[in-house]
Amino acid sequence: MEIKNNLETVRNKISGACRKCSRNPDEVKLVAVSKFHPDTSVIKAIECGQLLFGENRVQEAKEKFTAVREKYPQARLHIIGSLQRNKVKDAVKICECIESADRIELLDEIEKQCAKIEKKIDILFELHTGEESKSGFADVDSIKEALELFKQGKYPHINPAGFMTMAPFTEDKDLIRKSFVTLRECRDKLKKEYTQFDLNELSMGMSHDFEIAIEEGATLVRIGTSIFGQRNYN
Ligand SMILES: *Cc1c(COP(=O)(O)O)cnc(C)c1O
Repeated sequence: MEIKNNLETVRNKISGACRKCSRNPDEVKLVAVSKFHPDTSVIKAIECGQLLFGENRVQEAKEKFTAVREKYPQARLHIIGSLQRNKVKDAVKICECIESADRIELLDEIEKQCAKIEKKIDILFELHTGEESKSGFADVDSIKEALELFKQGKYPHINPAGFMTMAPFTEDKDLIRKSFVTLRECRDKLKKEYTQFDLNELSMGMSHDFEIAIEEGATLVRIGTSIFGQRNYN
């Protein structure tokens, strides 16, 4: 019951935030972040119509979503956490999108593993915009280097679908907003330069800041705590 109510509340808040800035709510997809929560919670969310999920650890996601998909093969999964190279093989098998593509070496490995299983997946370029951990491409130019490789045809099994960022953990709304604006400007600039690629998605905003992210153009919001409750890290 709680997950159902929480999902409704979050969906209403997403619609409300869209209305406030005259955006169509259909432009904003909800990624329900189920990390640290069991498959039974994921299934509850699916039964309330939520099909898109986010997980940050491959091993955990693999076990959970193997179980979930026996019952609900239509569930979709985005990997949102920083990825070690040796986890890519499992990651590409279980997900539709890797949102945390943060270095060229990782793209090389994603291509290699996708080619082996003849699967094409989406990635988002993660841009570092101020979060404490240093994950993400450092700047627009380093993403351009990666896009040049796409242009040369180096990654036929990868669709560069857009961009992702994590705002700094702060109460300072201006700092949070600045981080989202930086991501949107990066998207607008690179989309103009690389018209042959999608590059549309802007994955930004979590439980405490998704309304700001929607005002700044988010097309994907990644929400965990507000749907599934606090995570128990023990
Ligand atoms: C955990 C996580 C989220 C969800 O955070 P909440 O504050 O629980 O909504 C979003 N994005 C990433 C990358 C995460 O690791």
